[in-house]
Amino acid sequence: MNNALSLVNVSLEYPDGGSTLKALDSVDLVVGRGEFLSLVGPSGSGKSSLLAVAATLIKPTAGLVVIDGQDVSGLKEAERTALRRDKVGIIFQQPNLLPALTAVEQLLIREHLRGKPLKDARRKAVELLDVVGLSATMHKRPHQLSGGQRQRVNIARALMGSPTVLLVDEPTAALDHERSESIVRLLRKVTDDFRTATVMVTHDTEFLPLTDAVATMRDGRISRASVPSILPN
Ligand code: ADP
Ligand code: MG
Repeated sequence: MNNALSLVNVSLEYPDGGSTLKALDSVDLVVGRGEFLSLVGPSGSGKSSLLAVAATLIKPTAGLVVIDGQDVSGLKEAERTALRRDKVGIIFQQPNLLPALTAVEQLLIREHLRGKPLKDARRKAVELLDVVGLSATMHKRPHQLSGGQRQRVNIARALMGSPTVLLVDEPTAALDHERSESIVRLLRKVTDDFRTATVMVTHDTEFLPLTDAVATMRDGRISRASVPSILPN
């Protein structure tokens, strides 16, 4: 099965006072390996909720989430955690790096905490830091890096588990135009090279042509369009 990520008729309700708020309303979405999808839509339309459900961080009220052929809904909590670790990479707007650790240590900390031997992980971390253009800054700590470099560390860290699905929430919101473009280009390259199914929430409509398709959210509902049809000409 080529569909790395499928959401089938997914709804998500949050308690809202005495009633409920429908953050996701019958959402269908399929993303294949090597596909880079942009997710746009107004604030509050459900974009981050969609990513949280796709990341198996939140269980939907209804519907199916299928990752790499596996239906997530039937899994126990520990199995979901394992699936997330093995199949899902998550990149948020704020890199959330640990201040005391160097770039390469940020990539190794999870393996270290799990008591794994670090030899292979270290080789992989060095390779990934090269992919994101940080070979020369591997031993720098977050305060010695620029915002763009910190986001690159974040991207490399998300790739450590060789994820099938890469979920990215407004990765450029804290960056200037030039750095934003280079981050989106990097996500394009990563998607091509590692064949991830990548979903990126973004407000930067000018970078949409770097992605394969655009889905728009409005009031929890999703519509999917190809890039050219939503761009002004
Ligand atoms: P977006 O990322 O597009 O801005 P969100 O997915 O964050 O949208 O939010 C969708 C809707 O769900 C909004 O109305 C928001 O207020 C609501 N919401 C988001 N997270 C929660 C939560 N943890 N509890 C209650 N309501 C929430
Ligand atoms: Mg959001």
